[in-house]
Amino acid sequence: MSECKRCGKCCVIYNRFTGSWEPCKYLADDNECLIYNDRIGKKIGYGFVCLHHKNWIWDIPGCTYFTGKKPIHPAYI
Ligand code: SF4
Ligand code: SF4
Repeated sequence: MSECKRCGKCCVIYNRFTGSWEPCKYLADDNECLIYNDRIGKKIGYGFVCLHHKNWIWDIPGCTYFTGKKPIHPAYI
């Protein structure tokens, strides 16, 4: 399995007020997660919980964990 490149592409959160996908508030400018070691199960916004990529229900184009078997993440359609 490839290593995560920490590109930050999976760190987008749906904002129900604007109807758009936006960078997570814990994503720093250098694409480092500010709470990486504590992030699993972390509730970030209304109804959103940050999960480990292995539990992610979507595929993200360019991600090293792309499977081709899951729906494409809505932020990248
Ligand atoms: S999209 Fe994939 S490669 Fe990029 S940070 Fe997320 S898990 Fe890592
Ligand atoms: S909390 Fe999750 S979504 Fe937010 S920056 Fe960290 S890994 Fe990305």
